[in-house]
Amino acid sequence: MRAYMFYGPGDLRLEEIEPGIPGPGEIAVEVKAAATCGTDLKSYRRGHPTLFPTLPARFGHEFAGVVTEVGEGVTRFAVGDRVVAANTAPCGSCWACQIGRESLCENLEYLNGAFAEQIIVPKAIVERNTYTIPDTLSFEAAAPLEPLSTVVHGMAESGIALGDTVIVNGAGPIGQMFIKLAQLRGASVIAADRSPGRLAQAEEAGARTVDLTGLETPQDCADKIIALTPGGRGADVAIEAVGLPQVWEQTVLCLRPGGTAVLFGGTPKNAPFSVNSSDMHYKEYTLKGVYHHQPRYVKIAVELLSTGKFDGMSLCTEVRPLEALVESLEDMAAGRGSKYILRP
Ligand SMILES: [Zn+2]
Ligand SMILES: [Zn+2]
Repeated sequence: MRAYMFYGPGDLRLEEIEPGIPGPGEIAVEVKAAATCGTDLKSYRRGHPTLFPTLPARFGHEFAGVVTEVGEGVTRFAVGDRVVAANTAPCGSCWACQIGRESLCENLEYLNGAFAEQIIVPKAIVERNTYTIPDTLSFEAAAPLEPLSTVVHGMAESGIALGDTVIVNGAGPIGQMFIKLAQLRGASVIAADRSPGRLAQAEEAGARTVDLTGLETPQDCADKIIALTPGGRGADVAIEAVGLPQVWEQTVLCLRPGGTAVLFGGTPKNAPFSVNSSDMHYKEYTLKGVYHHQPRYVKIAVELLSTGKFDGMSLCTEVRPLEALVESLEDMAAGRGSKYILRP
């Protein structure tokens, strides 16, 4: 079967390899759709020692497909099932798992290899983070389960309530998911970005938009955005969906007194950001870092996709054949598209 192998930054090769055989508790899935993601682009450009400790390695982690073989002891799935799986599973027994903070699990098991004709899903993920999907949900729309699960996590931490004003900084795929889910919770959303395409998409989704082109400082950006909030006070909840320290700062500056910031985008390692400490005190801000997902959020994300409350295809720039992976990553790097669904 064909599978992409990652040899290091800038070096991805589509190769002919032996298909895997599922061991006890595992399932083999014929991949019908696999989605590119910002993490793939980051890994392709710079490498990713956590995800790829040894090279060459299989590549890609967002997929949906059909079960072709089940390992010994698997009872929840059968050959022919249409399934989607998250990219990790927590161990269930470390200190973090024991206090219900599975996104901080010390032994997260990662799955790579979605850009291929077949993938073996490990036992822990089969048991905790794999679901059958209804016939009404296409493989393409189901594939972005992982990012949607992380956004559901962010939503859970945000405390967004009916009638809230929510500012979403960054209108890429993650920002678009926050816009949609915040609206489902009854919030009015203001989205800020610099890309005409992303702003148009946010507007189409029903958000008011702010074009930050030409503005430099986090304060200037925040001032322009909060002018649209009730009384110009700022947002009840502001979300960072870019992954840059200056946008983290901008996000805190977008809050009304007593507001909550969800700092979601992964920033470069060891990058500091600053917050006005007297504002933090006198304005009683709540700042929340949110990383990854937990099984309970994966379950909700599957529900949102299955019921059509969230349309996975709304994130997709284009559906392409598997051979177009490198080209698609290059297009993402050049800002031509944000998410491509590849069909093996
Ligand atoms: Zn992803
Ligand atoms: Zn754990």
